[in-house]
Amino acid sequence: MIPEMDNPLKKPVQFLKGVGPKKAELFAKLGIRTVADILWHIPLRYEDRRQIKTISQLEIGRTVVVRGFVKTANAIPRRGRGMVFEVLFSDNTGVVSATWFHFSKKAMEKRFVLGSEWIVTGKAFFNKYRGSKSMVHPETESVTSDEELTQLGQVIPVYSLTEGLNQRAVRKVVKSALALLKEFPDFVPEPINRSFNLPSLTRCIKLIHAPPEDVSFAELNEFETPEQKKLIFNELFLLQAGIAIKRNKAKVDIPGSSMKVSGDLLDKIRTTLPFKLTDAQERCLSEIAKDMSQNSPMNRLLQGDVGSGKTAIAFSASLIAVRNKKQVAIMAPTEILARQHYKNITALLGKTQVCVKLLISGMKEKAETLSQVESGAAHIVIGTHAIIQEGVLFKSLGLAVIDEQHRFGVQQRADLFHKGDHPNVLIMTATPIPRTLSMTVYGDLDISTIDELPPGRIPIETRLYTKENRVSAIETIRSQVVKGNQAYIVYPLVEESENLDLQAATVMFAELQETEFKGMVLGLIHGRMKGAEKDEVIERFSKGEINILVSTTVIEVGVDQTNATVMMIEHAEMFGLSQLHQLRGRVGRGTEKSYCLLIANLKSGSPACDRLKIMEGTEDGFKIAEADLAHRGAGDFFGARQWGAPELKITNIFRDQDILKKAKKAAFLLVDQDPGLDNKANHELCSTINLKWRERFQLGEIG
Ligand code: ADP
Ligand code: MG
Repeated sequence: MIPEMDNPLKKPVQFLKGVGPKKAELFAKLGIRTVADILWHIPLRYEDRRQIKTISQLEIGRTVVVRGFVKTANAIPRRGRGMVFEVLFSDNTGVVSATWFHFSKKAMEKRFVLGSEWIVTGKAFFNKYRGSKSMVHPETESVTSDEELTQLGQVIPVYSLTEGLNQRAVRKVVKSALALLKEFPDFVPEPINRSFNLPSLTRCIKLIHAPPEDVSFAELNEFETPEQKKLIFNELFLLQAGIAIKRNKAKVDIPGSSMKVSGDLLDKIRTTLPFKLTDAQERCLSEIAKDMSQNSPMNRLLQGDVGSGKTAIAFSASLIAVRNKKQVAIMAPTEILARQHYKNITALLGKTQVCVKLLISGMKEKAETLSQVESGAAHIVIGTHAIIQEGVLFKSLGLAVIDEQHRFGVQQRADLFHKGDHPNVLIMTATPIPRTLSMTVYGDLDISTIDELPPGRIPIETRLYTKENRVSAIETIRSQVVKGNQAYIVYPLVEESENLDLQAATVMFAELQETEFKGMVLGLIHGRMKGAEKDEVIERFSKGEINILVSTTVIEVGVDQTNATVMMIEHAEMFGLSQLHQLRGRVGRGTEKSYCLLIANLKSGSPACDRLKIMEGTEDGFKIAEADLAHRGAGDFFGARQWGAPELKITNIFRDQDILKKAKKAAFLLVDQDPGLDNKANHELCSTINLKWRERFQLGEIG
């Protein structure tokens, strides 16, 4: 073993040639701090420079690499609106144009000096206006030094970058890190590597950064070489080991913490509800009741589509706790939503003696509420982040409910948990997580799913319009308003953005009021408004004083208006499908047929348009989430990253299902045999988990 301080892999990146304090800072932005980190900076894809084409050989529709000189470089007006930057590259066989839509003119002019030579990689199409072959936003790299030229006959890795770092700089630094690499310590114990016949980690790291000449380019770009698969295995194994440890730790036994959940109690709770629970709700409730009757605290995710009736379940679980003389905290992401829960739950509790309190910041009666929470006089506390603030002390918190969990960070979840002594935790989400993802993201939770909507729901009719047909959508809104119903119009942004000529809610509000909806009452609500202003608008909408509510996505959660029958979404292409689905769930809550009108700034038949078509075909949140996930990738899935979902650098959850299963099995078996990772063979694993996952998983020190 190499002594710690001499281990070059553990040295800061600045240790490498060509990395000064400034570059080190840029690398830090990419999460790269040490030499080992730079070696784990896995290429996004590869470029095949063994085959540079001449411009005349460019094939339409294929990604190719050409080499040419800058002939012209200008900002030119774009058909329609704005400017594009265009560079003409030529070699002795022809000319190809390259265009950029988002650019700084100054920077571009400085970059593409007339006569300079470039390697240009992109997908060519035929630009009929120019009458030539074109590329949009191609990758460009200047050919300026001999060192670059030597790379021409190779397969070149392409890395993710940050402003101020280019491919060349990263490649150079990686190269000097590789030169220091003797052995990369592997946290996967040797017997596991052997049993799956995995190549050595050191070999893998070398191959991904410097592929040998005879590598299969297709395999490499599909991440299908045995070396890449080994790296994927490692990433998933580490994650699964973390999850396994977390699960183990959560299985603590707190003697005397179990709650009594008799059939009588459940019957009583049922009679409090104004409706009969659906079968799916019953199943989820019994799963929760079972958890709560154990000495080991519940750690459960309740997932169900918008309107599937999660609140009733949270309410029932709350009553179980209250009847067992324990307090309940329900935390919601917005004030609007917290107030709505408060209103609904207060109404349900009616004549009972249960004391429910609302806790949001800036409240007048806050001091009084706090003392009631502390004395135990308040049984159920519903609120926003205000609940996890320092001064909030519970006498005996027995159940913590988190609504719309994806809006909270890991730390906030942990803070709520620590308001009690191992309270039961119930997390609710309306964004059903595809099974493929739940194994990684929610690996440490038990999952209950409400997969059935309450009876009597009338399906929502969803229609996709292009901009040209927008008038018919407007007509639908007008006719619904005339019938006495209400409508939402949602815009993606608050203010006009420079690059994307979006119609923003604020601007359109005024325009709509003057034109298409003259004579109707419009209201405006957006994220920059103060809480009280928002409340007032929502209040007027609830009372029916506003016919059409123009809004940004603030209404995504929390407005429950049965009289609203139209949801029109402008620039639907800007939204994720799951988000559209959530928005759609704001209508169809009453007894009348509802409409969801998606206005897309797209050509019909385009792939982006096909993606939106899914919305017309289904109201099944699971199907929509799968499609969304497939489109956007796991990293972006509904802010998964933001709340602490593991950051997977090389894994693609869809592609790598098989590896995931293997890694999971191996990791769980290992943690089962050595829960504290005390075996010498598991030391590297132990220290890596401590380094990478401890904070994310709230593991406490292990080993
Ligand atoms: P979620 O929070 O899952 O989006 P809610 O709990 O707000 O859904 O329920 C949506 C609506 O359905 C509410 O008006 C609620 O009263 C009603 N509801 C819930 N469960 C049932 C049921 N079993 N039968 C009839 N209506 C129900
Ligand atoms: Mg809800």
